[in-house]
Amino acid sequence: MNIIGRNTFAVVNIEKYLKNLEFLNSCTTAKIMPVLKADAYGHGMQELGKAALKSGYDMFAVAFLEEALELLSSGILSKVLIFNYFDPKDLKSVLDYSDYLRPTITSIDFLEKACGILGKDIKKLVFHINVDTGMNRIGIREEELSTLIRLIKKHNINVEGIYSHFATADEKDEFVKIQYDKFLNILNYIINEGIDIKIRHLANSAGLLFFPQSSLDYVRPGVATFGMQPSNIIKVEELKPVMELKSTVAKINMVKSGESIGYGRTFTTLKSMKTAIVPIGYADGYFRNLSNKAYVLINGKKCRILGNISMDQMVVDITEVNTNVGDEVVLIGEQDGVSITCEELAQKAGTINYEITSKLTRRVPRIYI
Ligand code: PLP
Repeated sequence: MNIIGRNTFAVVNIEKYLKNLEFLNSCTTAKIMPVLKADAYGHGMQELGKAALKSGYDMFAVAFLEEALELLSSGILSKVLIFNYFDPKDLKSVLDYSDYLRPTITSIDFLEKACGILGKDIKKLVFHINVDTGMNRIGIREEELSTLIRLIKKHNINVEGIYSHFATADEKDEFVKIQYDKFLNILNYIINEGIDIKIRHLANSAGLLFFPQSSLDYVRPGVATFGMQPSNIIKVEELKPVMELKSTVAKINMVKSGESIGYGRTFTTLKSMKTAIVPIGYADGYFRNLSNKAYVLINGKKCRILGNISMDQMVVDITEVNTNVGDEVVLIGEQDGVSITCEELAQKAGTINYEITSKLTRRVPRIYI
């Protein structure tokens, strides 16, 4: 591995990513539309997108226009659905790539402005409609459907797909069914109005795994493709984490009893302790609120973080560990059969696994294997 400097990096295993996709494929009759937004939740959208494209996946999803353009310019010439709002004036750049880009009609306002800006050229674009079935975020609301239909007919808008998004598929509750039924009702209404819809899609990772009847033409998994668990309630053993986060032992200290460690002096030793300094901190995206709570792995042993995590380094307890400067430190992943998962860190940090990987900053090089 060609790593320079402090030896802190994330290893992204492309084979595991493809295996997770294969597994998800085996769980559904629908086609998979891998979600690559937020740089593939921190894993790297270009590298994973290229691998998935090579393996035959033919449509991807991102949050923003900028992300879609990044995929195309990296050579991923495939259909890319853009989930979210962007300034309608930028539809002109969507026109340049209209074979690939699939903007979403996220609101009536967006569609009206788009028609105004593009004029007759609006017909050259291919849209998906997001209908709001219960998230109350972006998307066309039920009471706006008649206006939507009127605009689509008036401007001869080319609609390829329609979709919605689950709020609670990870909790397996009744609301999933309510959203599913609402989606089908809206779909029927739109079809009965004579709008030709080719692609229907609804399920995210949890939807496709725990409510497979919601799989329509496509499913849009994100978190599960990266081997992270889509639910806190049900563990899916087949999913294999794609990312490991590693660093190294930079220095070893012998700290006397009664001394404090780090900013704010939040940890004081009750006995003499051996500590290791690890060159990774909150500016790398490692959550500062894991201070004094989380562990790292050194020589297959769980070593607790002592004191407040700094911007660029942390201190861990190696009193019982035989280690030297330069030894590997695993912050996420496995070492000698012991593992630390994103789920574990998320729980300790009071967040979700999505945030653990997507917050890793650019300062951490991603190594693809
Ligand atoms: N579809 C939409 C519209 C989303 O916003 C997301 C992510 O939040 C996904 C699919 C993928 O969800 P997940 O990562 O839970 O599979």
